[in-house]
Amino acid sequence: MRIALLGPPASGKGTNAEMLVKRYRLDYICMGALLRDVAKSNDKDSMRIKGYLDRGQLVPDRDVYRLVKSKLNDNFVLDGFPRTLEQAKMLNKDTKLDAVLYIEVSEETIIDRITGRRQCSRCSAIYHIRNNPPKKEGICNACNGSLYTRDDDRKDVLEKRLEAYRQQTEPLIYHYKKNGLLMFIDGEKSIDVVFNSICNLIDSKIKPNRRI
Ligand code: AMP
Repeated sequence: MRIALLGPPASGKGTNAEMLVKRYRLDYICMGALLRDVAKSNDKDSMRIKGYLDRGQLVPDRDVYRLVKSKLNDNFVLDGFPRTLEQAKMLNKDTKLDAVLYIEVSEETIIDRITGRRQCSRCSAIYHIRNNPPKKEGICNACNGSLYTRDDDRKDVLEKRLEAYRQQTEPLIYHYKKNGLLMFIDGEKSIDVVFNSICNLIDSKIKPNRRI
């Protein structure tokens, strides 16, 4: 099963991707995490990539696709890729997606979620201080790593990320709707309700036709 999650920052792509990985035993290809790893590394491109992340801009298509391409197989969930029409075209040359799950949320929700978002510095698990708090404040339930606020979750950078989303990523909604792959999810609901509606769509529309 080959799925991509589409939606604005903090629409719940990461949270749902992690749950999908466990439930359907998929590989998790998380574009943001791959790029943050490059930015932290000694790679020759690290400073250049870090610059895009810090400014809340999209990294050039050829850089992101180089990272994604080697990870493609028959069983994955893509989180944060594709984010431009060019990326969607590159992907389509190498693999055919079964579905694109578009998680829709309002701008008000995005801002509330981002300001409360905390991420594990060790395993990248995501929490929210009110909606999905860790059992012990500041500590990851899964691996005891410490939780932090991402630099690009600051309000000034968030505004840039939202602008990039509106201009470069939103056109993908129409693109995937047109070729029949898009499935709408109401991302305003609770984590359990959103995840259940995703699973219902997968089980009724994809899974019976595919061996996962
Ligand atoms: P995320 O963790 O998915 O919110 O991504 C964090 C940042 O990584 C984004 O603001 C972009 O700078 C960069 N990024 C993630 N995915 C992509 C992509 N598909 N294309 C270009 N840049 C990306």
